[in-house]
Amino acid sequence: MITRPQHWLRGMVALAAIVLVAASISAIGTSAAQKAAPAAAKSAAPAAAKSAAPAAPDHYQTAVNAAYAKFKSLQEGKNADYIPALAKVDPNIYGVALVTVAGKVYTTGDITSEVSIQSISKVFTMAKVIEEQGPMAIESNMGVDATGQAFNSIVAVEQYKGAEMNAMVNPGAITATSMVSGADRAEIWKKIIDTYSDFAGRPLSVNQEVFKSEAETNQRNQAIAMLMYAYGHIKAEPLRACDIYTEQCAVSVNAKDLAVMAATLANGGVNPVTGKQCMTTTNVPKVLAVMATAGLYDDSGKWLYTTGLPGKSGVGGGILAVSPGKFGIAVISPPLDAAGNSVKAQKTIAEISNALGGNPFAPKPAAKAASK
Ligand code: GLN
Repeated sequence: MITRPQHWLRGMVALAAIVLVAASISAIGTSAAQKAAPAAAKSAAPAAAKSAAPAAPDHYQTAVNAAYAKFKSLQEGKNADYIPALAKVDPNIYGVALVTVAGKVYTTGDITSEVSIQSISKVFTMAKVIEEQGPMAIESNMGVDATGQAFNSIVAVEQYKGAEMNAMVNPGAITATSMVSGADRAEIWKKIIDTYSDFAGRPLSVNQEVFKSEAETNQRNQAIAMLMYAYGHIKAEPLRACDIYTEQCAVSVNAKDLAVMAATLANGGVNPVTGKQCMTTTNVPKVLAVMATAGLYDDSGKWLYTTGLPGKSGVGGGILAVSPGKFGIAVISPPLDAAGNSVKAQKTIAEISNALGGNPFAPKPAAKAASK
């Protein structure tokens, strides 16, 4: 009798123990799972990102890197030397930058070195004049047609008395500078440098050595300014306009600055990095049209044929190009071809843009209607 209750008791104790252990195990399990849950959620995200990252590298960066590697050792062209300071610039500077309309920045190579903006400045002075006076002011005062001549051609001025001109070559550009309003030189200059800085998204400044060097040797541009004055396109102070133009050409920029400036045009006039509206959206196509027509001077047709992109070059070795609604792209490499355009910059931009489908003249056929 003793043993039975003992057995019964032992059995109950054993059962109770099993139930308790089981309950506590399941309790531990539950609380462990509950405690582990957030940690697991936290660690799940990086684990997933880790497995996705190597499989899908950013194809924009890939295109930028590939073009850089392809043209890095290309040795063609020669620094501009008609402006003495430009002949001394390191010909090996080679910087590449692409900025999307979403403000994503891709760079490679030498992107801290700066060169003078030179003729690329013409784009943004034209933009300022259009903002102040409307697109008709540009069209009626200097025209919007290609000259087919070099950027500093005097024959091109003479042929139509300065009328069949555009703001991307010197006679039209100096005229555009003369059209920026202001009580005095300082006020006009401030408007110009502020405009460029807004487009670049940082305060830009002048390379004084380049400014001085060109100011001492720019008699040809002074002659052009005087002719545009003689034919009534520049209304007053032609030599002051030429001097301000010379200073605007000496503004110092790196490849990223130029790419942000281009991306601002690609983004309808809003700087995609700073968010600042730099020009009226509806005025942007006017600027892009003249860039497409004459941005690479007498080689503009060849450039458009290769890339479809409105672009602008400068004898400092920079070129920027705009893929409207997509991205801005810029390359700096000082050696130039015979037309005054950077050899490497042209090749690099074409390579990258074409790899990324940047050509606005490359429509895809519409889906075929169902056959009858
Ligand atoms: N400042 C230079 C000039 O007027 C600009 C020319 C250029 O970049 N093509 O000669």
